[in-house]
Amino acid sequence: MLEQHAFHDIGPFANNIYVVTDPATRETAVIDVGFEPERVIELVRAKGLDVRWLLATHAHYDHVAAMLPVQQAVGGQFALHRADLLLLRAVAFQGSMFGLPAVPVPEVELELAEGLRVPLGDQSLDVLFTPGHAPGHVTFRHGQTLWSGDVLFAGSVGRTDLPGSSWSELERSIRERLFPLGDELRVLPGHGSATTIGEERLHNPFVGESAGRP
Ligand SMILES: [Zn+2]
Ligand SMILES: [Zn+2]
Repeated sequence: MLEQHAFHDIGPFANNIYVVTDPATRETAVIDVGFEPERVIELVRAKGLDVRWLLATHAHYDHVAAMLPVQQAVGGQFALHRADLLLLRAVAFQGSMFGLPAVPVPEVELELAEGLRVPLGDQSLDVLFTPGHAPGHVTFRHGQTLWSGDVLFAGSVGRTDLPGSSWSELERSIRERLFPLGDELRVLPGHGSATTIGEERLHNPFVGESAGRP
């Protein structure tokens, strides 16, 4: 079992930040930090966590813009899928579209890819490649928990009207990659409240059975 701390509704886009720890070794992965890095830094110091990884589900501004101050304060290797490197390099441009400041981001030290296991003590997070919302979007799984970034939300899915997005890829990622993982799987998204695969498979208005597909 991994221990988890979560911060909800952070910053102008109401992002969720997840901090996942192997209790035996304190080895920790931080998933997606776009705003308010001090929250993560204070938690890490208060709990004596050993930050090994700064994991980005994808390189949109609201998921990576505050990774560097976290890294400078508490360490951790920055990890991203290579298909999102273009978005990472364009992070200042992404910010400018929303009137947000240009920020420096860390170098990618670990390239995430389908099938990779990110170690945390004797445990690990499995990486699933789930493109569509962003070309290099990944999802992390441990046991019966899935950290889904902006792929799948409670009652919604990630936007596909952004540069590099693709509705058909997103739909395939959700229907062919995530739904087969089983109805019991708990889904912790990058925005909004937690859900389950079963709930979304049945009721999601975009990709669920109620979406009107045979
Ligand atoms: Zn996004
Ligand atoms: Zn987002």
